[in-house]
Amino acid sequence: MDSVYDVIVVGGGNAALCAALSARERGARVLVLERAPEAARGGNTAYTGGGFRMVHNGVETVKLVVPDLSEGEIANTDFGQYSAENYLDDLGRVTQWYCDPDLAETLVRNSTDTVQWLYGQGIRFVPRFGRYAFKHEGKFKFFGGTVVEASGGGRGLVQSEYKAAEKHGVQIRYNAQAMGLIREAGGVGGVRIVVKGVEEEIRARAVVLAAGGFQANREWRTRYLGPGWDMAKVRGTRYNTGDGIRMALDIGAQAYGQWSGCHAVSWERYAPDFGDIERPITLSRNGYPFGIMVNGEGKRFVDEGADLRNYTYAKYGRVVLGQPGSYAWHIFDAQVDHLLHEEYRSKGTTKVHADTLEELVARMEDVVPGEFLETIREFNAAVKRDAPFSPNVKDGKCTTGLAINKSNWANAIEKPPFTAYAVTCGITFTFGGLKIDTTTRVLDIADEPLPGLYAAGELVGGLFYYNYPGSSGLMAGSVFGRIAGREAAAYALGVRSAAA
Ligand SMILES: Cc1cc2nc3c(=O)[nH]c(=O)nc-3n(C[C@H](O)[C@H](O)[C@H](O)COP(=O)(O)OP(=O)(O)OC[C@H]3O[C@@H](n4cnc5c(N)ncnc54)[C@H](O)[C@@H]3O)c2cc1C
Repeated sequence: MDSVYDVIVVGGGNAALCAALSARERGARVLVLERAPEAARGGNTAYTGGGFRMVHNGVETVKLVVPDLSEGEIANTDFGQYSAENYLDDLGRVTQWYCDPDLAETLVRNSTDTVQWLYGQGIRFVPRFGRYAFKHEGKFKFFGGTVVEASGGGRGLVQSEYKAAEKHGVQIRYNAQAMGLIREAGGVGGVRIVVKGVEEEIRARAVVLAAGGFQANREWRTRYLGPGWDMAKVRGTRYNTGDGIRMALDIGAQAYGQWSGCHAVSWERYAPDFGDIERPITLSRNGYPFGIMVNGEGKRFVDEGADLRNYTYAKYGRVVLGQPGSYAWHIFDAQVDHLLHEEYRSKGTTKVHADTLEELVARMEDVVPGEFLETIREFNAAVKRDAPFSPNVKDGKCTTGLAINKSNWANAIEKPPFTAYAVTCGITFTFGGLKIDTTTRVLDIADEPLPGLYAAGELVGGLFYYNYPGSSGLMAGSVFGRIAGREAAAYALGVRSAAA
C-alpha cells in the first residue's frame, strides 16, 4: 500500500468504483476504502440485476455496448427508443416534479456516453430480454425505458469494475470503515478509519464519498422514514448505514432530498433481514400488475395497474408496509401465470395454490375469507371484458366503478388453478442525502462547496422523491461517480477541471 494518495474514495460499490477509475484515468493516486470484507464487497451494486437506464436510439445505441448482437436478435427485437426528453419526463413525473432539474439534466445528458465509458473500462453488457421485453407477435418488444444490463448482473458488474480498478493501479482496502473526515485549513484533508477496532488516519487532498444510503440502519430508518420502517426487510447489503452522509453532515454539509422517502418494493414476506447475495433477486415480487394485491382484511388497497411495473414497483413497498400487519398477498390465476418471473417459483417462496378461491383463501390463513371472496367477486364484475390484454403496453383493460380501480391489465381472476404469494416490504435504498452541484462538489448550507469533498451514488439527495424510474440508480452512480473522480483528481492535482 502507498501511504500518499491524491484521492480517497469511501465505499466499494458502483459509484465508488466509477469515481476511482475516473480519478485514476486523470493520473491521481487513488485509494478505495471498502467497509465490507472482500468476499462481501460491492455494496448494493452486487445485489442488482445490473440494469442501466440510458438515453438510446434503439439498436444503433445498443450495438455500441453489445457489439456481438446477432442478426437474429436484431431482426426479432424492437428496442424502441428512449429520448432525453422521455427520461427527463419520467424522472419528473414519478418524483412529482421534485427531482432537482440540474442533477436530472446531468444524469440524463451523460447517460449514454457513460455506459460507453464503462464499456471502455471492460464492463460487458447484454440486452435485458429476460425482464424488460415480452414476446409480442413473434418479436421481443422492450418496455419501460431500460434495454441493457451488465453481463453477470450486479455481481458481474462489481467483478469487472474491481478487475479494471486493480488493473489500473487503484489501491483497495477492505474491512476499512470510514468514520470521519479530517478537516484542514484548506479543506478536507483525509479520512479517519477503523480497521479491526484500530483507528487510523489517511491523508489525501480530495475525498469522494460513495458509501450508499442509510437503509441498513434500523434506527435511522425509524427516525427518518417513520414508525414501522424498523420492520422492513433490507434487500441488499448490511453495510450501508449512512456513515458517508453523517461524516459530511458533521463538517457542515447540507442535508438534501427526501429524507422521509425511499425505494421499497413487494418482497418475500419471510425473507431474512438483509439481502442474500447468493440469490439477490429471488425474493422480489413484481408481478402484481397482472393480478391483484389484497391485505389481511381481504381488501384491495392500490391500483396494481396504474403504470408499467418499472414506474410503480419502487413506491408500492411503502403501501404494503402500511397495511395491517405490514403484509399482503399477490393473487393470480392460470391466465397470467406464465408472465410471472422465475423468482415466483424459487425456493423459499411463501406460496399457496388451489383450484377454487374458497380453498385458496383457506390456505392463506391470515386473510378474512368472506371479504376476500367478495373483493374478487366485485373485481371480476368490474372488469372491462371486451378490451384486449397486452402485457407490453398500458393496455387500458381496466375495471370501472370500484372504490380503487385497476387501470390496466385487469383480467378477471377466474381460471384455476389460483395462486397467492405472501409479501412484505423490502427496502432498497433511501432517497435523502447530501447536496451536491453538477460537478459533484458537496455543498454546505449556504450552497458553497466544502473544498476537497465530492459525493456520488445513493448518498446524494435530490434526484428521487416518492418514487424512482427503474434502473436509474446504477446510471446515476456511474454518471456522478465518473464526474466525481474527474473533479476530485483535478482538485487534488491542482489542474483545471474538465468542466471549468
Ligand atoms: C436487489 C436490488 C436490485 C437492484 N437492481 C438495480 C438495477 O437493476 N438497476 C439499478 O440501477 N439499480 C438497482 N438497484 C439499486 C442499486 O443498488 C443502486 O442504485 C446502486 O447499486 C447504488 O450504488 P452505490 O455505489 O451508491 O451504493 P452501493 O453499491 O451500496 O455501495 C456502497 C458502498 O459503501 C460501502 N460503505 C458503507 N459504509 C462505509 C464506510 N463507513 N466506510 C467504507 N465503506 C462503506 C459499502 O460496503 C458499499 O461497498 C438494486 C438494488 C437492490 C438492493
